[in-house]
Amino acid sequence: MSVNSQSATEDALRADIVNTMREMVRLGINQGTSGNVSARWRDGFLITPSGVPAAQLDADTIVWLPLDIEATAPVFDEKRPSTEWRFHRDILHARPEIGAVVHTHSNAATAMSIHGRDIPAHHYMVAAAGGNSIRCAPYATFGSQALSDHAVVALQDRTACLLAHHGVIALGPDLGRALWLANEVEVLAQQYLLAATLGAPPVLSDEQMAEVVDRFSQYGVRPKRP
Ligand code: 13P
Ligand code: ZN
Repeated sequence: MSVNSQSATEDALRADIVNTMREMVRLGINQGTSGNVSARWRDGFLITPSGVPAAQLDADTIVWLPLDIEATAPVFDEKRPSTEWRFHRDILHARPEIGAVVHTHSNAATAMSIHGRDIPAHHYMVAAAGGNSIRCAPYATFGSQALSDHAVVALQDRTACLLAHHGVIALGPDLGRALWLANEVEVLAQQYLLAATLGAPPVLSDEQMAEVVDRFSQYGVRPKRP
């Protein structure tokens, strides 16, 4: 599978979106019809269809939407993009440096979101999402404009957030990086919950985290500061 860089052709990008959804299942960070994926393409974005399990996806089921799409657009009569097309659209609109958006309901991260808890700086890798915490956006109904509005705010200066009582959004310049971060957020949440069994986990200071964020801007394949 090649989800490591944004594809050169629309066909290749459609295939990479399908592969990303399948990889999410393989990694254990998504299942069933949960989650969705989009990638910027031309003046819009390609997005997974609504309610289709990863194993049943193929390149033709991926839907293209223009970035200025509104809910009344005729495309909704023929095709069924993910119910979360609003937050995919709004994130790609607000964040020109972002090329791909991955949404999962991964277990540990969702468990923290059920408590409305940000992931704090219990581990330096939290800085991979751009700062000293991974925020949890307030609850709103799936697919709603309110959920999208909350997500865009929670993602300010970050490349990942939790959605209360729901799941995770992870961003990247391309599908591979967004998928990597979605998995990393789940690992961080698992580590937090494990550490919490011994008591409230101590956290790194703002200064310590600022130093890590700075280092990440020059480190390996880690996402750059948003
Ligand atoms: P879709 O199948 O419509 O993408 O919905 C899945 C989901 O995760 C909603 O938040
Ligand atoms: Zn969801």
